[in-house]
This record gives sequence, structure tokens and C-alpha cells, in this order.
Amino acid sequence: MNRISVQHHHADWTAERASDLYGVEYWSAGHFQVSAAGLVQVRAGFGGEPATVNLLDIVRGLHERGLPMPVLLRIENLLDAQIAQLNQSFARAIAQSGYRGSYRGVFPIKVNQQSQIIDEVASFGARFGHGLEAGSKAELLIALASLDVDQGYIVCNGYKDEEFINLGLMAQKLGYRIFFVVETPAELPLLIQCAQQAGVRPRLGARVKLSSQVSGHWNATSGDRSIFGLTSMQLIDLVDELKAHDMLDCMEMLHVHLGSQIPNIRDIRTGVMEACRYYVDLVREGAPLGNLDLGGGLAVDYEGSRSSHVHSMNYSLEEYCLDIVEVVMSVLDPHQIPHPTIVTESGRALVAYGSVLIFNILDVTRFEAHRLPEHIADTEHENVRNLWEVMASVTFERAQECYNDAMFYRDEIRDLFRRGQISLRSRSLAENIHLEILQRIKTVIIGSEDEYPDLAGLEEGLADIYYGNFSVFQSLPDIWAIDQVFPIMPIHRLDEVPSRQAILADITCDCDGKIDRFAWDGELHNTLPVHPLVDGDEYYLGVFLVGAYQETLGDLHNLLGDTHVVSVRINADGTFDYAKEVEGDSVADVLSYVEYHPQTLLQKFRDSAERGVRSGRISAAERQQLVELYATGLRGYTYFER
Ligand SMILES: *Cc1c(COP(=O)(O)O)cnc(C)c1O
Repeated sequence: MNRISVQHHHADWTAERASDLYGVEYWSAGHFQVSAAGLVQVRAGFGGEPATVNLLDIVRGLHERGLPMPVLLRIENLLDAQIAQLNQSFARAIAQSGYRGSYRGVFPIKVNQQSQIIDEVASFGARFGHGLEAGSKAELLIALASLDVDQGYIVCNGYKDEEFINLGLMAQKLGYRIFFVVETPAELPLLIQCAQQAGVRPRLGARVKLSSQVSGHWNATSGDRSIFGLTSMQLIDLVDELKAHDMLDCMEMLHVHLGSQIPNIRDIRTGVMEACRYYVDLVREGAPLGNLDLGGGLAVDYEGSRSSHVHSMNYSLEEYCLDIVEVVMSVLDPHQIPHPTIVTESGRALVAYGSVLIFNILDVTRFEAHRLPEHIADTEHENVRNLWEVMASVTFERAQECYNDAMFYRDEIRDLFRRGQISLRSRSLAENIHLEILQRIKTVIIGSEDEYPDLAGLEEGLADIYYGNFSVFQSLPDIWAIDQVFPIMPIHRLDEVPSRQAILADITCDCDGKIDRFAWDGELHNTLPVHPLVDGDEYYLGVFLVGAYQETLGDLHNLLGDTHVVSVRINADGTFDYAKEVEGDSVADVLSYVEYHPQTLLQKFRDSAERGVRSGRISAAERQQLVELYATGLRGYTYFER
């Protein structure tokens, strides 16, 4: 691994170097930058020069408003910008290629169901006719209430029961452009029956299972083993069944979903090509179609490596749109089939950028010796004295040897301690000396780690632990569940050298509640460069691109609840407004989620305190104080409050 030894560049450190180190240019899609003063800024475009706002200023304003960390910041402008870019990129690709169809996006509600997000998608998307994709009854209810009748498509995926279908059919009567995508053969009879009863010709789609295999984390079950979609045999049955009911003209959409976060553009091309082959033959079978829904998959470069790694992508949005348009034309044109409306269900790429989790660091553990004595007593155990000698002899040439000796004596001493032959005080001294030896070795080999392959893990093993005021399980579940990588960096002090290497621990006290995979300097690392804490000053880290999938997948591990969510709108003059504040869960809230009744708890505790007064253990005044503390605790934020 080609580590940057940041310690070596104190003199010429600049905020620009920090920007390179954390790869801001590569993952931010132009939405974030580092100022010369070392602050992370969000950029919002208004035609001319973009307006920029320091994240730190937003955080300070929140403190003044009594909203402490952690906070999930939503920047409305970025969602707006992403919707515009997706629609405009398709429009450009269509114009450029002479494509004779149009583009219609639908946002899959499951990617972020929060009402504020859906409201924003609906209002920012209105000018492009952007619609919504619903995968369940609840999501259809959201879609119907969020879109105007003639605004955009509503694509219904997932298993649909009678209630779901009837609601959709009635909504179609009202004028909504609803597509029922048939996912399994079992759905069809019910659909036909409900449609006949309602006297509506439904718009049907057929979801086909592609055999193209797609790489990436989510896509192991793509291809034949995909759990959704019709096989070619089932598709032919569907066509015949519709023909038999004189309903083949209802089949207005072909739907495929290649998977999510597809890092390699080749997989997208291959999948679209296969989808188009189905399209051609379904048209030949007599289905009108007219809409080709290519599902999700448009990736986000979380890692900033512009590669086909799972958390990255090797293509741009422009390329994605152009490739799709070109492939569709290349397959359909030889058959003189009219160009369909291209639909995509891009979710991640629209909402990821707009949300940033910001938290403060509460404490640091360093793996360094402290209070080493000047001399070692002759009465110390021989092994401890040997360790002391090793410490004095650390040089570049002897690094490996010293390391081996240090490990040997330390293990011997631990053994002796277990057998009761050495005191706790001696063991503590030995551990201290051992840490000092490792630190000295790390220092002497810096920059030449390649010469000592066996010591490669040393820096990581000695990394600090920074304790952050957040919960991985609540706010970043994909880090825990699927080893997702998000860009993480300090949001200030970037004009100072980040001279420490750290892993991050959250406040759940769970050994899984940590982050130890970071993308920076173009690669994945197990530690993150951070700044030493300054006494009395808060230190803030931001986790970026967290707008997709994180919020509703989060859970109440250790009863840490929802964080505060604050929506910010940036104005063209560089000012900003706090558009909306949603207070995070209080302790009483999370307790009620697990079926406690805060009032009952308080009453029980009050009774217990009352018994304490009666038995003379506390005074009546103390009882009052205790009950007050308990009640305040119930009202409080579930996170660490200063
Ligand atoms: C999850 C999902 C999407 C969203 O995919 P992204 O990769 O987030 O754009 C789209 N369509 C269907 C059917 C899905 O299940």
C-alpha cells in the first residue's frame, strides 16, 4: 500500500493537499470543495458562479438553535441539481443521437421514503415530468398523494394484492399514468379480474429476468437466479394469456432491473442490449409497448476511484445516458421499431449527495506510552529490563529485530503475569515500554515501509481510536451490514496537517459499532488521517453521500434513535436558510418504540424514590431532585449531550 506519510510534509501543507488526500474532487461530483481556509464547502449552482457555504457555519448555526450533534444535514439544492442533471443528460444524449423517443425518470420511493425527500423529488422533478416508483401499497399511497395527476409516471413493482390493484386502477381513472408491472405469473389473473370489474384498461408492464450477470455488491443474484421477473417461458405465457383476454394492447411497458450500484458500464450495456432483444420480439408478438423501463443501477462513486470497484463506477452520467440511447437505437433500428420512451428508476444517484451526517468527536484513545520512568530499577524482573534495553536500541537497520524481541518479551511477561510470577505494576510498566518500542519502530521506518513487509500492519495497529457521537447502526447501517464505504473527512481544520491515523468508534459500545475502512488518496485504507484534538474545541467529521438507503434501514441498537435532521436551502447570494428542522428521537420516543410507557416508567421510579424517603435513605428534597433528573433524561436526546 502506498501510504502518504503526512507527517513528513508539515511545512508545505495546504488545504488543497487535504482536498487531494480525501479525494473530494473525485467523489463529490462538484457538490463539495475545500476552501483555502481549510473548510469543507457545499456548492450550489445558479447559472453563474456557484454559491458556496461552509458546513461549519451551518453546524454553528444549529448549536445556536439548540440542535446539538449528531445531525443529518440535507441540502435541498443538491437533490434539485441531481434531478436536473439526470434529466438534462438524457435530453442531451437523445438530441445528440437523433433518438426519436423521450426520457421519463421515476424515483424509487424505497431509496429514501422520508416525506421531505419525496416532496422535494416531486417538486424539483415536476418540470421534467419525473415520477415515482412504488414497490408496496404504502409506497403507492405516498406516490398518489405526492404527484399531480398529469405530472409523471407511477410505476408499481412488487407483489400486488387486490387492494393495491384496485387503488391503482381507480387512480388511473382519475388520470394518473400508472403502470402495473407483472413480476410473477401469479399476479396476472387477479390483475385481469380487477381490471374487468373496474372497467379499466390497465397499463401493464412485464418485468423480465435477464440472463446477463452483473458485477457489484448487490448483483450476485442477477441473471437466472434473480428472484424477480419473468423467465422467457413465463413471458410467452403472459403474452398468450393477454391475447386470450384480448388485452395484449394493455402491455405498454417492458421492465428490467439489472441491480443497484452497477460499477461497470459494460454490464449496463450488455443488460440493456438483452432487454432490447426482448423488446423487439414482444413488439413482433403484437404488444404495443412504447416504454422501456431499465430500472435502477446508476452508481455513485463513494470511493472516488473512478474504477469498477464495488463502491465506485467507471463511467460518468453522460456516458450512462449516451450508452443507453445508443444501444436501444442499435438494436431497434434494424427492425424499424419506433423508439420507446426510456424510463429509469435511478434512486441512489439522485438522493445520495444531498445528505451529510455530521458528528463531533468525544474522546480519543492513543496507543502510546505514558509516564515512562527515566531509569529502570535493578530490582525489576529480568524480562522487563530486557524490554527496556530493546527500547534503547531501536534503529532503522534493527527495526525488524527489535520488533521480534519486543513481541517475545511482552508475551513472556504476559505469561508470567498469568502464572502470578510478576506484579500488575510490572506488567503495566512492560506494556508501556512495549508501546514505546512500537512507536519508535514506526517512526524510524516511515517512508520505507516497503523494506519491512512484516511491519506493514504496524501503523494500523497503533492507530488512534476516535470516539464519535453517532451510531453506525442508526445512521450508517450499510457500513455494518455490507461493508459500504462512504467518504468521511473532517469538515474544518483542513489547512492543518491531519497528523494522526485513526479508526472511528461510535457510542454504542458494540464491537461492530466502528468504522475501519476508508477511501482516501485513491485507495482503501483501514485508518483515516485526522487532526489531533484541541482542548476545548469541538472536532467535526462529515460522512458524505448518505442520502440513499441509510435512513429507514437504520435501527435502534442500544436505543440510540434518529438524529436531528435539518434541511438547508442555499441562496444565490451565498446565504442559507434552515428550511426545516426535524428533532431527533428523545429517550422517551425510543423507549416507546420498544413498548415502554414513559409515564409509567416515571411513575414507577417516583414510587421507588418515595420508598427511599420513607425508609430514610434520601430526603424529600433529594427525591424531588432524582425524579427531576429522571424526567429530564426522558426528554433528552439519545446521543451524548455536552
Ligand atoms: C432498488 C430498486 C431501484 C433503485 O436502484 P438504484 O440503484 O438505487 O437506482 C430501482 N428499481 C427497482 C425495481 C429496485 O428494486
